[in-house]
Amino acid sequence: MSFNPISEIGEFGLIDRLAAIVAPTKNNLPELIEGIGDDCAVWRTSDSMVQVATTDLLVETVHFDLLTTPLHHLGSKAISVNVSDICAMNAMPCYALISIAAPREMPVEMLEELYRGMAHAATLYGLAIAGGDTSSSPAGLTISISMTGQTTLEKVTLRKGAQPGDLICVTGTLGGSTAGLNVLMREKATMIEQLRNNEPYDKNVMAELQEYAEAIRHHLLPGARTDIIDFFNEEEIVPTAMIDISDGLVADLGHICRRSGVGAHIEESRIPVLPDARAIAEEFQQDVFDWALSGGEDYQLLFTLPKEQYDSIASHRDITVIGTITEAEEGLLLTDIFGMTIDMAEMKRGFDHFGE
Ligand SMILES: [Mg+2]
Repeated sequence: MSFNPISEIGEFGLIDRLAAIVAPTKNNLPELIEGIGDDCAVWRTSDSMVQVATTDLLVETVHFDLLTTPLHHLGSKAISVNVSDICAMNAMPCYALISIAAPREMPVEMLEELYRGMAHAATLYGLAIAGGDTSSSPAGLTISISMTGQTTLEKVTLRKGAQPGDLICVTGTLGGSTAGLNVLMREKATMIEQLRNNEPYDKNVMAELQEYAEAIRHHLLPGARTDIIDFFNEEEIVPTAMIDISDGLVADLGHICRRSGVGAHIEESRIPVLPDARAIAEEFQQDVFDWALSGGEDYQLLFTLPKEQYDSIASHRDITVIGTITEAEEGLLLTDIFGMTIDMAEMKRGFDHFGE
């Protein structure tokens, strides 16, 4: 038997290999509607109701940096990213289980602050933190959250289901999280440089960051769009497919297209970019559309809807139509702001935890 490092096949290659091993267990319980491959697993709890469940792992230095992330914010974000996956199923969150592994020397007060952030977010979303587990960790803090949500069989929305001709819609703005992250990384580099040179801590750092507050907030405190799920409920809208934007617009639209067996054509000029991200991208001499298309971690919802239902979303000021679902053969196309149409498959992919 030969051994291959995970980095050779990447995160998605790894998921495929492991999913193949566990696939036969699906036959044990026929109520399972959707297993691995969507934002949540889905199973039927009665004739009309389904439960959805997701789990998410946050590892220090991989997903967060304690030098630039206040623990209260980290706790809140850890809850929000799970709620976002629940929303991506057109469901509302119910219960969460939280497990942590922390270094023995970590002050208890730090973990309390983390949990205060989690409790704060849970209260906002109306979900209950119902249990968990703790362990010591040989290196760094790791947080694992599992969460359930609930919706009806009629409303549950998968990644598959998008049809050629459907409108491609996105909520809120994109690019803010990557803009905020860039500012925080630059600040961290400055901080380390000052420490290395034995310079006194510059008290004005926080004041200087004030002008970037909006983008930093998008990175440290993204909100899950439960308000959009409420809106769908009120307007009786059921998207044909939906995902939350965690890997980046291009990668996540790719997930919808692959699962639905369709293509897509989006227009760069229609992509809602956070205005502050535009200014920050200019300062960093980066293309803000790169951040919006491939940056990820914006936790907005990306969904498709039959075009006859355009009127039902037209009045919502926080929903933007960015393109149309096409036949699979047409691939994933992007018309850029200069009118050039390019194949998104050629673009940088979303984040891969085991990639180069
Ligand atoms: Mg997701």
